[in-house]
Amino acid sequence: MDLTRFLGADHAVKDSRVTLLGAPFDGTSSFRPGARFGPSSARTWSEVLETYSPAFRKDLSDMKLADAGDADTFAVPGWDAVSKTIRGRVRKVLSSGSRLLLIGGEHLVTLPAVEEHLKIYPDLAVLQMDAHLDLRDEHNGARYSHATVMRRVLDHVGKGRLFQYGVRSGTREEWELAEKERTVVPDIAALGGILKGRPVYLSVDLDVLDPSVMPETGTPEPGGITFRELGSAIYSLRDLDVVGADAVEYCPWPGGGGPSGAVAAKVLRELAFLVGGDA
Ligand code: MN
Ligand code: MN
Repeated sequence: MDLTRFLGADHAVKDSRVTLLGAPFDGTSSFRPGARFGPSSARTWSEVLETYSPAFRKDLSDMKLADAGDADTFAVPGWDAVSKTIRGRVRKVLSSGSRLLLIGGEHLVTLPAVEEHLKIYPDLAVLQMDAHLDLRDEHNGARYSHATVMRRVLDHVGKGRLFQYGVRSGTREEWELAEKERTVVPDIAALGGILKGRPVYLSVDLDVLDPSVMPETGTPEPGGITFRELGSAIYSLRDLDVVGADAVEYCPWPGGGGPSGAVAAKVLRELAFLVGGDA
């Protein structure tokens, strides 16, 4: 079975509150590629879930979910062209009045999504949940990489608007930068006071979860949080205005993947409720 739409995504983009968009790109993977298969596999695995979330006490059918399919990131050469393609698709979603829920793909796909949100929400704050800081200035000679994505976001948003949760891996230079910019939040509940009333973009690198929970990811990092901890973290943001989100770095094993697909799909379902807000 290969579902072409995510669970419960029965609405047209123009009529929807939240639109799923796949960004099947893994061109800068440094360890295991395959995140390009993440969007299609997450759609397939969404079928194991119910449309009802007991945490949010809402059903996907209440909140107008659309699935716009995938950005065509295969046929275009180089990151500049891929970025342009993703930005175009994101712009289309946002200009039709819907909110974005992006499915990666590797983490670099977050950058064009954040760039499009910044045009609409100039005071956007970005919250990243990730095992890795992703604050390198360059990685393997490239300025645009899954390992530099939050450095590029920081270039755009500046001090006091990037927050990182669940991080446990980075170079000495990355940790020094994180300390200088005070990006790391040990307690997600403390963010409520800081981000209240401001538009927030939430980027979930699924490797924030422990590899025992989410083994199918490009760069597994031991010592991560449990699924319940991630669920609580997402739920604790429900009083904030999370205007867009993504889940990235789901890298299904060859042959259709294992149960990490259910993990990725459930994170996406809960993110849909978070981004949908009270609508
Ligand atoms: Mn990561
Ligand atoms: Mn990452």
